[in-house]
Amino acid sequence: MAAFATVSAPVSADDHGEKHWSIAIHGGAGTMSPDKMTPEKRAEYEVALQTALDAGKAVLANGGSAVDAVKAAIIPMEDNPLFNAGRGAVFTWEGRNELDASIMDGRDRSAGAVTGVTTIKNPILLADKVRTDSPHVFLMGEGAEQFAAERGLETAPPEWFATEHRREALERMKAEQVSALEVDHKFGTVGAVALDMDGNLAAGTSTGGMTGKRWGRIGDSPVIGAGTYADNRSCAVSATGWGEYFIRVGVAHEICTRLRVLFEGVDAMSTEVGEDEAQDWLLHSNLAQGVSDSVMAEVEELGGDGGVILVTPEGDALFSFNTTGMYRGRATSDGVNEVAIFGGEESAEPSSTPDH
Ligand code: ASP
Repeated sequence: MAAFATVSAPVSADDHGEKHWSIAIHGGAGTMSPDKMTPEKRAEYEVALQTALDAGKAVLANGGSAVDAVKAAIIPMEDNPLFNAGRGAVFTWEGRNELDASIMDGRDRSAGAVTGVTTIKNPILLADKVRTDSPHVFLMGEGAEQFAAERGLETAPPEWFATEHRREALERMKAEQVSALEVDHKFGTVGAVALDMDGNLAAGTSTGGMTGKRWGRIGDSPVIGAGTYADNRSCAVSATGWGEYFIRVGVAHEICTRLRVLFEGVDAMSTEVGEDEAQDWLLHSNLAQGVSDSVMAEVEELGGDGGVILVTPEGDALFSFNTTGMYRGRATSDGVNEVAIFGGEESAEPSSTPDH
């Protein structure tokens, strides 16, 4: 069984009523090892992750909303060809870049998503327009592009999204008759989750999908409840991995639901034992990490791999993945600020969940 990198940063012990914020980002999970990555490549990823994290942090530190922070963090990763989202997206079997994105606001559970768009420079912005400016949640292909044109979203020609290394991956996949996983080794989807100073949560995810996808295949990333979910009552989640499995498990919604039910249990407990004791138990029991790990274990049992990022209303920012690495980062108003690539690199204390 693959190791879970389970680290949680309990950042929210907010006994003084101070307003706090928290953000986590990812740029995909997969098979990665430090000796297979040059120091230059590693530095390039770290800079890209820090740039995204800084953009999200700036919004939150200035009192901006979690939704705006999520968009701010995702845009630089969509624009960066290192990641499989926006520019640098993987190719479909037919040699196109078809983009998916979704976003959700935990305050009112409003959500927007798009799939199969080919000309929208930043699909996460279109997903958010669907959320705020249409009566729908999920738009596809041409219709989504028509909606984007009516709302004045920035477009880009196909060359903007196409990169040589992604084209080579498709060609290798066809020539060697191997699967997407064998050519990509890692998922490069990007995502962000945030808690703002008003206590609202949000999550967003953006991707090109998986190399060689065909027949209009849609992965988990634009599916609300699979790749993205946010609910102020529980948490905000963004996923990356083998989308078919994440859809089958309903990963993002499953994590939020389990956590909500547990939080409700803690509320009930506080009438028995008092609020302080219940809150103390909550802070120290690492519920969010345990729930994320157990849902990721379900993905693995079915044969899938990947990871999630998550923030809680208390400001915990954490990761759970069953691959050897995940491009990731997190920052909080309490001074946490880190980016990491391989398993076990975070500075925080390991959670109570043992590595397998
Ligand atoms: N989850 C994405 C998909 O299946 C792929 C990824 O995470 O990179 O489309």
